[in-house]
Amino acid sequence: MNIAILGAGISGLSAAYRFQQLAPETTIRVFDRRNRYGGVLETLNRDGFQIEQSADNFITTIPWGVQLCKELGLGEQLVQTNPSVRRTYVVRRGRLHLLPDGFLMMAPTKLLPMALTPILSPFGKLRAGLELFIPSRKDDCDESMANFVRRRLGREVFERLVEPLVSGVYAADMEKLSVLATLPRFREMERNYGSLIRAMQKQLAANRAANLAEQSGARYSMFVTLRNGLASLCDALVTKLQPDTLRTGQEVTRIWKTAEKQWVLETKSSGSPTISATYNTKPEFFDAIILATPVHESSRLLKNSSPELAEKLAKIEHEGTAIATLAFNSDQVKQSFRGMGFVVPKNEQSPILAGSFSSLKYEHRAPEGKFLIRIFAGGNRMPELAELPERQLKPLLLAEMRKILKINGEPIFTVTSHWAKTMPQYHVGHRELVQEIELLTDSDLTLALAGNAFHGVGIPNCIQSGFKAAEKLASSFAKNNRSANDTEKQVRK
Ligand SMILES: Cc1cc2nc3c(=O)[nH]c(=O)nc-3n(C[C@H](O)[C@H](O)[C@H](O)COP(=O)(O)OP(=O)(O)OC[C@H]3O[C@@H](n4cnc5c(N)ncnc54)[C@H](O)[C@@H]3O)c2cc1C
Repeated sequence: MNIAILGAGISGLSAAYRFQQLAPETTIRVFDRRNRYGGVLETLNRDGFQIEQSADNFITTIPWGVQLCKELGLGEQLVQTNPSVRRTYVVRRGRLHLLPDGFLMMAPTKLLPMALTPILSPFGKLRAGLELFIPSRKDDCDESMANFVRRRLGREVFERLVEPLVSGVYAADMEKLSVLATLPRFREMERNYGSLIRAMQKQLAANRAANLAEQSGARYSMFVTLRNGLASLCDALVTKLQPDTLRTGQEVTRIWKTAEKQWVLETKSSGSPTISATYNTKPEFFDAIILATPVHESSRLLKNSSPELAEKLAKIEHEGTAIATLAFNSDQVKQSFRGMGFVVPKNEQSPILAGSFSSLKYEHRAPEGKFLIRIFAGGNRMPELAELPERQLKPLLLAEMRKILKINGEPIFTVTSHWAKTMPQYHVGHRELVQEIELLTDSDLTLALAGNAFHGVGIPNCIQSGFKAAEKLASSFAKNNRSANDTEKQVRK
């Protein structure tokens, strides 16, 4: 038996790792069009700085990231966020303001900081407080994030707090982003407690009680990273795979299924000639495939063999972002920070989506006396920035950054990274669309999909998507083996 995995990002590598555990006798081949594995995850080390080119940490409340790191022997490498800067700033009229203490993504857990914040007007605060009395929605229908937050907490909380926080993560249009696919627990809170504020306060009290009761075991901050960078997670996965598993620098151009239900892959070398020369570029046959490519690419590849599935996958739209990472001497930074970064509301009309004080958030990322900052741009607000060349992007973001932060002089160096069409958009109706996609893939025991387009964009979700894809195909291989053995026994009898 053999299996092909398309895409060597964290989803594809997780699928390969899990599949090898479940069916060690199977031949696994992982194809990637780039010359390297890891997909968007890439860590660069330069002059003592550690630069994450895309994701720079992952959430710990979704277990698969931390679990996988521990399983791979990276538990000791997990680094918590710096406790002295665990807050976030919001920009209002060009100035930084700390997000009200206890405000978590969509709702407040503490009322006093909300009452005192200069970000909201007295009317905005009053409207937010009325959330406690607004009747809850009873049906299960989806709605946009914008609608949900305006309905519960009012327009100001939406525009000045939630919109920048959520767009900073999803690079999305909040008028289209689905609340049920993106942050369903907030709708559950509304249904179960009648109010987000009440639910958040109850949950906080329950968490405190659980923390007091729990005497042992390592507890992590909400986000963690790896000391040697997130690329080290991909390195650790690859070292567990059989030699010859990886086929980087080899793009899959076409796939189809034979009458005998085998998958055929046509590939082309996209890597450097020295590497690609060793590859077999003839069509290759596989018993099963996992598509862990971005979903627009999976849709293109499936167009002939599964047109209905391809059409549904194509409905998932994507946005992209660009990041400028700037290194400074600490004495160029003329202010001190109590937060790990800032988000910019849409109505500030800035090309900056968010900024992250990378070397404050995780102190190992810059040498002593240096400061590293990441500036994000693009997303749904200004999609063209995701592809703007460095020579234009760098001066634009530097000038805009200086309007918000007191940082003097030129950076020691700048690194830009471009991630066009990498962030799937979970629009209203996404959950139903994913159900329809899964109904179609479930009926094919030789095909599985993995990646960030279905049940969460974060690294832990991608790991789980890879695991689930591997588990599906390994169990259908096992069933096939069993029925082949049964037939053989009957023939012998
Ligand atoms: C800028 C940015 C910041 C982010 N920040 C965070 C964060 O802080 N925390 C977090 O948890 N998540 C974050 N994410 C999300 C997370 O990093 C991604 O969702 C995740 O890494 C995607 O992994 P993947 O393997 O599904 O896809 P990818 O990493 O995109 O990998 C897909 C692979 O498929 C390959 N491929 C495509 N077509 C073909 C083909 N025809 N043949 C062969 N190979 C092909 C590509 O070359 C690529 O390597 C961020 C994402 C971005 C872009």
